[in-house]
This record gives sequence, structure tokens and C-alpha cells, in this order.
Amino acid sequence: MPEKYTTTDSGAPAPSVEHSLTVGSDGPILLQDHYLIEQMANFNRERIPERQPHAKGGGAFGQFEVTHDVSRYTKAAFLQPGAKTEMVARFSTVAGERGSPDTWRDPRGFALKFYTSEGNFDMVGNNTPVFFIRDPMKFQNFIRSQKRMAASNLRDHHMQWDFWTLSPESAHQVTWLMGDRGIPKTWRHMNGYSSHTYSWMNADGEMFWVKYHFKTDQGIDFLTQEDADRLAGEDADYHQRDLFTAIEDGNFPSWTLHVQIMPFEDAKTYRYNPFDLTKVWPHGDYPLHEVGRMTLNRNVVDYHAQMEQAAFEPNNVVPGTGLSPDKMLLARGFSYSDAHRARLGVNYKQIPVNEPHVEVNAYSKDGAMRIRNATDPVYTPNSMGGPEVDPRRASEVRWASDGDMVRQAYALRADDDDFGQAGALFRDVLSDEERDRLAHNIIGHVSDGVKEPVLSRVFEYWRNVDPDLGKMVEEGVRGS
Ligand code: NDP
Repeated sequence: MPEKYTTTDSGAPAPSVEHSLTVGSDGPILLQDHYLIEQMANFNRERIPERQPHAKGGGAFGQFEVTHDVSRYTKAAFLQPGAKTEMVARFSTVAGERGSPDTWRDPRGFALKFYTSEGNFDMVGNNTPVFFIRDPMKFQNFIRSQKRMAASNLRDHHMQWDFWTLSPESAHQVTWLMGDRGIPKTWRHMNGYSSHTYSWMNADGEMFWVKYHFKTDQGIDFLTQEDADRLAGEDADYHQRDLFTAIEDGNFPSWTLHVQIMPFEDAKTYRYNPFDLTKVWPHGDYPLHEVGRMTLNRNVVDYHAQMEQAAFEPNNVVPGTGLSPDKMLLARGFSYSDAHRARLGVNYKQIPVNEPHVEVNAYSKDGAMRIRNATDPVYTPNSMGGPEVDPRRASEVRWASDGDMVRQAYALRADDDDFGQAGALFRDVLSDEERDRLAHNIIGHVSDGVKEPVLSRVFEYWRNVDPDLGKMVEEGVRGS
């Protein structure tokens, strides 16, 4: 007798894992073989829709510990000195499907969920401090341009550059993407940025604008295009394997959280629109303040339950934290929760990996896959002692807004343009070797199928970032 016996999903002893129930040894198979049917039905339903985008990814559980005092900027409990908070992280590529290689050139998602004592706080970041576009109206088309064509079902560089060069606000992020950091050596060797501007509020109700920077303690490292191409064939799950193995070996990766903090009033007159997702706040204007350290120390035990069903969303803010007028961020508030409802169902927050580690006293009720019991009273207001709202506790972050309803770009500030910060990255930050590799990567990418009239726009795009870079790219592509 085995110590552990196989059961059906209902817990009854399974009859056989070798033979279906038949009339005589040669069949036919009987419909009442409910165990066979249970096995087949479960198998047919194993896959759920993959994320669109960020389908391929992985991550782990860990802990965040505050090491520096930022209490004068935020009252959030998990950001107070000495606080330790359980968390989960998920890293991902953007455009590839669930089985696609980890080492394709792409930004990496850097999604975090902190199970704080005031509810869940999420940061749905990337390994880049900026993004390709600044208005959510363009997002769907942007992602389509990075995925597959209708007829051939192929990815297509011509389509990608067509979109990018018709969307010059993409230049900063594309410069980043084509540089070394566009293919991190591993997930452990990249930074995570909120990219968006968020808000903080202190105990006196004073507000600040913030950007989060999780800097890798393993050091930044990258793969050359050639190494990444080779690895894509040899080990499509290279980054997944690296993280899982490191944690399994007790080699726990960590990241130090820094924030840039902008006084609330500065936003009105700052030389860049501080909510434009295609821009950074130069460190010289807003230096980094150290906050704490996040360490990943526990692998998932069921990838599907704990990673595939992990649902991150910028809506998850806690008292002392909030959103900002960044149009992309405000739209993500809707689109992320909508995506989770579509993929996982309306009760996705009751899946254990998404459950807060605090008591939930919500009036939501019923729906598919409801796990937690609702309790009476099921409505509010009520006179039966049900939970009551405490607005002082929530202390929502708010800002003033007024004007006519319009469909317009952000109003331009003194230094706002599409190419300036991309040019600064190329000229002032990158070394000669990094500049050479950037040009090499662009030339290789463009030479793979980009045709006129897009090609001429590509050269102009890079001349706008920097005349020397434009020349290098044009000579490299025309000569190739
Ligand atoms: P700084 O010289 O103060 O900062 C430059 C930053 O660039 C570094 O701190 C580093 O960010 C990042 N960096 C270094 N090497 C690379 C690389 N190969 N690829 C991409 N980024 C790299 O200058 P500023 O703050 O004035 O910014 C100048 C430019 O630097 C910006 O236009 C932007 O492109 C880039 N940058 C700026 C960031 C910011 O938040 N201000 C953040 C990252 C990049 P890190 O320390 O985060 O690794």
C-alpha cells in the first residue's frame, strides 16, 4: 500500500492511471469512466489566456525592508523606518508570447506587489525609466506594431520602425532599448523603475511627486546581440532558469530602492512636464533618496497559481501613496484591472497570490469563482453594525484640475521636446564602446527588413537624436 494514494479531484481514491474503463479488454470505452473524463477535461482547460502584453515572465517572493527615514514625505506604513513587508515580484518581456525566448531585445516588466499592513501596494514598473508613448490612446496600436502581422503571423522590423518613426516621442525609449540595457544579462542584473510619476502624502497632509528607482545590488550587466541570439536558441528560458536557480542556491538577489522627490508646487513650473512618461527627471534637478532594500528569497511552488495568476495593477495604492496626472498611468488603472477580470475572472483578488495579508471588509459579492464567504449585511449603509468607510484612514491623494474638455497633447514646457533627453543619453551618459554597440544594434535591427519610405525616416529620427549617430546609422545600413 503506497503511503500517498492518488485521488480524483474530489478526493476519492483514483481507480487506475493506466487503463480506461472498457467493455472487455478491447473496448468500447464507457461514458461512466468519470475519472478518465475528469483527466481529459482538466487537461483541455489547463491554459488560460496569456497576458497581452508581458506574456513571458517569472518571478519570486521576497521581503522589502526600510533602511532610511522618508517619513517626512509619506505616512505609508510599509515605508516607515524599520518596516518589513512581504512581497512578490514578476519580471517579463513585453512583445513575446508565453514560450518566446527570454533574451529577445525588449523592455522588461518589473512588477511588484507589497502585502502591506494597509492593503496591497503594487508598482507595475519596467527596467527603463521612460516609455515609448505618452498618451494611452496610442498604446494598443503601439503593441500591435511590436507583435505579429495579420497574414504572415511574423514579427516585422519594418512595422516596428514605421510606428516608432511616426511617433517621435518614442526616441528616448528606443535609444535605451537599442543600447546595452535593451537585453539584460539576467533579471538579477537590471534596475526597476516606476517610470511613471506617483504621489506621496505625509502625516500632515503635505503632498510630493515621486519616482521609484529599484537599483540592482548585483550590478548592471547585459548581453550583446550576438550572445542573446545564441541563447535564444540554446535556452529560451535563460532568465527564468537563472532567477530560479539563484534563489534555489540561496543566492538571493536584492535591489535598493531610491526615490526622486519633487515638492508638489514644483510640478507647475518645472522645465519638463513632470508627468510625461517619455521623460526622466534629471538627477541633477531631483537627486535620489535611499529608502530600503527588496530581497527575493523564495521561489514559487506552483508557477501557474502563483505567477501566471499574479495580478499587478497601479490601482493598488495605500494611504500615503497615490497616482499622478500622468495620462498613461491613469489609463493603466482601468486597463490592468480590466485585463485581470478578462483573464482571471471578477474575483481575481481572491486568488491567494493576489490576496492582501489584511482583513478584507468589502461589500463586493458573488461572481464567478468566488472563494471568500460574503457575510451579512451585504449592503451599506446598514443598521446592523457592518463595516463603515473611514475617509481619514484612506486619505486619498488628490490634485486640482480644471479646464475645457479637449483632445490635446500635454502643453509644452520650456525644455519639452521629443529628442533632447535621448540625445543627452547618447552624448553625456554612454561611453564610446556603448555608443558603438548602440549604433551596431540599430544597424542590425534596421537592416533586417526595413524599407522605404520608413528607412529614410529612420535616418532622420537618429539624426534628430544626434547628428553623429544619424550618420553612423545611415552609413552602416546603406553600406550593409
Ligand atoms: P545622470 O548622469 O545623473 O544619470 C545618468 C543615468 O543614466 C545613470 O544614473 C544611469 O541610471 C543611467 N545609465 C548609465 N548607463 C546607461 C546605459 N548604458 N543605458 C541607459 N542608461 C544608462 O544624468 P541625468 O539624470 O541628467 O540623465 C541623463 C540621461 O540619462 C537621461 O536623459 C536619461 O536618458 C538617462 N537616465 C536618467 C535617469 C534619471 O532618472 N535621471 C535614469 C536612468 C537613465 P541608473 O543609475 O538608474 O542606472
